[in-house]
Amino acid sequence: MTFTLPANIAGRPITVLGGGTLGRRIALMLSLQGAEVRIFDTNVAVAQAAVNYIAAERPAAVEEFGGVPAGRITAGDNLPSALSDAWLVIEAVPEKLELKQKIFADLDRLAAPDTVLASNSSSFASSEFIGGVGTPERVLNMHFYMPPAVRSVELMSSGRTEPAILDLLMGELPKYALAPHLVRKESTGFIFNRVWAAIKRESLLVVAEGVADPEDVDALFLDVFKSNTGPFRFMDQVGLDVVLDIENHYCQLAGMENKSAPLLQRYIDKGWLGVKSGRGFYSDYA
Ligand code: NAD
Repeated sequence: MTFTLPANIAGRPITVLGGGTLGRRIALMLSLQGAEVRIFDTNVAVAQAAVNYIAAERPAAVEEFGGVPAGRITAGDNLPSALSDAWLVIEAVPEKLELKQKIFADLDRLAAPDTVLASNSSSFASSEFIGGVGTPERVLNMHFYMPPAVRSVELMSSGRTEPAILDLLMGELPKYALAPHLVRKESTGFIFNRVWAAIKRESLLVVAEGVADPEDVDALFLDVFKSNTGPFRFMDQVGLDVVLDIENHYCQLAGMENKSAPLLQRYIDKGWLGVKSGRGFYSDYA
């Protein structure tokens, strides 16, 4: 099947799959231009929490970035109706390859023929989950960091992505106060995440080895780089379960042992997942 670019995108909805840490933030940014944004999550309570998050954060986002004050945000657990007439779908479900493979096959079957299908995966290239997709030309990686605080988005072709989609999104995303960057060849971890992976791994190891506490690493980082956030605070924002999944994947690709896994697993076993559970490396998120 050949793919034609979506038409009339200004009047069509955008659908975000997964209303967790990233999904709700992506939906917030994409709601700024007045488009209807639909959140689909298999956990209805999370979908509703995402809608509440957007309602609470939207006034500040509109003030900072501009946009229309009232966005149409809906949430639900019915995939076909969430996808109906959407011009863009962004998947932000957990970092499990089999799940992404299944979801992209479902999206290809259920979405309109001209819908662009994007994944926010941090560590899987879209070439790894298009096996069951009949129109791979419409699939790409669209990787956000932590909007609204971080507005960069990295766009990456699967190698089979229609190049006009990349051009379309490079032109459209700035309208939503996002800053797109084109990843010029397939790269596990995109651009910034590869750099961040090295910082994160070594930060975890100095703590796992008992060389430092998380607070020491963060304090040094803040002072030396004049940064506002250190690696451990940042990992708490990402979610320690997500950090572990991503690091496991990088280590598997590199054929090396994930020596930081036991440290992260100890926190995860206690339910300390970071900001989203109220406690992670730090305990002051209540
Ligand atoms: P999360 O665990 O906070 O949220 C994932 C959501 O997906 C949950 O609410 C879950 O109920 C839902 N879900 C599970 N199965 C689903 C399905 N079949 N259909 C619809 N929803 C489903 O995860 P997250 O941190 O938001 O990460 C999501 C994706 O975004 C991952 O691929 C991750 O690599 C990527 N990402 C995360 C960050 C981050 O800082 N957390 C940054 C960039 C990219």
